[in-house]
Amino acid sequence: MTTIAKDTAVKFNYTLKDDEGNILDQSPEGQPLAYLHGHSNIIPGLEQQLEGRSAGETITAVVEPADGYGEYQAQAVQHVPRDNFQGVEDIQPGMQFQSEAGGQVMLVTVTEVTDDEVIVDANHPLAGKRLTFEVEIQEVRGATEDELNHGHVHGAGGVEH
Ligand SMILES: [Zn+2]
Repeated sequence: MTTIAKDTAVKFNYTLKDDEGNILDQSPEGQPLAYLHGHSNIIPGLEQQLEGRSAGETITAVVEPADGYGEYQAQAVQHVPRDNFQGVEDIQPGMQFQSEAGGQVMLVTVTEVTDDEVIVDANHPLAGKRLTFEVEIQEVRGATEDELNHGHVHGAGGVEH
């Protein structure tokens, strides 16, 4: 039986929970996620804990923020003048914008709006959280030449192109 190692294509179902047991995300029923192991397709903490496993196994992987979406960075919260959002009528907390800083495009989330400022947070929504993944491994196979060249899995659950 093929076990999960570098250059294997893996398909799995997952449920992601926070420390309080709230479900943050899950793979849709009957639509497992496919990824190429060893190519940073998924967060490092989960990838490490899948190593050596095989199809049919169910695991619970607890991932600390540093191995997940990073620690929460206070400096990633910025106060932006309201004038920078010209053309945007009604700015509300929860809205997301793309922001370009130093040639890098980041997704920022509006957390607060005052009369003259918009406070935005560039942290990933899951930054600073310890994550618990309940994973059911569906399939493990060797990746094709094309998949290795592209750095991702092709077909259902992966990249379809
Ligand atoms: Zn491709």
